[in-house]
Amino acid sequence: MIDSHAHLDFSQYDSDRDEVIREDFESGIEAVVNIGVDLETSRKSIALAERYEGIYATVGIHPHDSGNAPRDYLKQLEALASHKKAVAIGEIGLDYYRDHSPRDTQRRAFEQQLELARKLDMPVVVHIREAVGDSFKILEKSGVGKGVLHSFPGDESEARKAIEMGFFISFAGPITYPRSTRVKVAASLPLSRIVAETDAPYLTPQAFRGKRNRPQYVRYVIEKLGAIFEPYTFDDIERITSHNARRLFGLPFEKIPGIVYKIRRSLYVNLTNRCSCDCYFCPRSGSRDGFVSGHYLFLRRDPSVEEILEAVEIESGFDEVVFCGLGEPTMRLKEMLDIAAKLKSKGYSMRLNTNGHGGLINKIDLPPRLAGLIDRVSVSLNAQDADTYLRICRPDRGMESFEAMIGFVKGCRKAGIETIVSVVDLPEIDIEACRKLASDLGVGLRIRSYSGDRRRSFA
Ligand code: SF4
Repeated sequence: MIDSHAHLDFSQYDSDRDEVIREDFESGIEAVVNIGVDLETSRKSIALAERYEGIYATVGIHPHDSGNAPRDYLKQLEALASHKKAVAIGEIGLDYYRDHSPRDTQRRAFEQQLELARKLDMPVVVHIREAVGDSFKILEKSGVGKGVLHSFPGDESEARKAIEMGFFISFAGPITYPRSTRVKVAASLPLSRIVAETDAPYLTPQAFRGKRNRPQYVRYVIEKLGAIFEPYTFDDIERITSHNARRLFGLPFEKIPGIVYKIRRSLYVNLTNRCSCDCYFCPRSGSRDGFVSGHYLFLRRDPSVEEILEAVEIESGFDEVVFCGLGEPTMRLKEMLDIAAKLKSKGYSMRLNTNGHGGLINKIDLPPRLAGLIDRVSVSLNAQDADTYLRICRPDRGMESFEAMIGFVKGCRKAGIETIVSVVDLPEIDIEACRKLASDLGVGLRIRSYSGDRRRSFA
């Protein structure tokens, strides 16, 4: 677990800081981002990061402290930010609830520190209280498009706007309180933009409310997110929020490719990274990092049939096997059918997630070959017409690909395989036209949310 926001340098830990840190790392914490709120705590955060491998630091002046910042505070922050374990500028922002510093001073310090973050190309950790309007105006004007809105107090539309601006949204202990308004906000967001935090020693989750908070209590926030995003499991949320925190703060990643990987109650088989498409939104392409729901899927080589069967055998706690990795499974049709036949004989339920080009790639009528082996098929429709499809998916077989995919959907239905199609909610996609096309094909439509940068153009 990663606690993306804590204040372990605060006096509440003076009597047992080392013990708390040791116990929490032993109980499953992998990393803690310790947040500076003034020059002194920024220095202390860096000192903690130097002392503990899993602790990282941020440096910044909190709106409460902006009135006390010395004249040369930006110069001092810049020097602190050059430390190799300084990962963000923060905690900065606006707090009109407590108004500990004059609002003009808060706004000026916020703007200046955003400018510093832009200059240093660092993410920001933003504190907002009763100041969403002004904060968003300043953030937009600054051009800073990476960071996190910590323990975000806004509503669903404000959270979505922050995500559009490039920010992550973090949730802390209050999401675990009875009737918390944070539940509705979290439920409206893509998991790929959510991180978990404690804000320790404050904002203690319901289970220990009233007591001092600590990083290991981030598990209660993760548990609550698991309940909100069911059927995602605790492990899924832990992996995804940790991955998000690593992306946000540039923390080191472990890149061990998964041959099989679990999400919810499905076991996915990563047969190959090859594909007949080059969709611009695919985690395979461009600068995207090869992670899907926190699993690293870039293979060093195509795994053998035996390796996959062995990997499936040692897993447990899943209801179906899904052929779906970072590539098109039917690029290895023979191996996929061999694996499916073996698993079918053992009673496994199976699904194929495909771009629908299997027949075209292998020059066969594929659906009858799948019948009796594959129980469900999910086909990436990806566009309302061939022209949009060509531009978004960039298939290597050109114009005939869209029609081949549509023919595959029809063939699967005819073969009696439970079939649905899916689209990603990209700006170029006409969801209503896709819904009509799916309905004309007699299949259901699943709309997946795009987790990448919407500002990237595919032109
Ligand atoms: S069809 Fe799927 S695997 Fe292939 S490029 Fe598109 S998104 Fe990626």
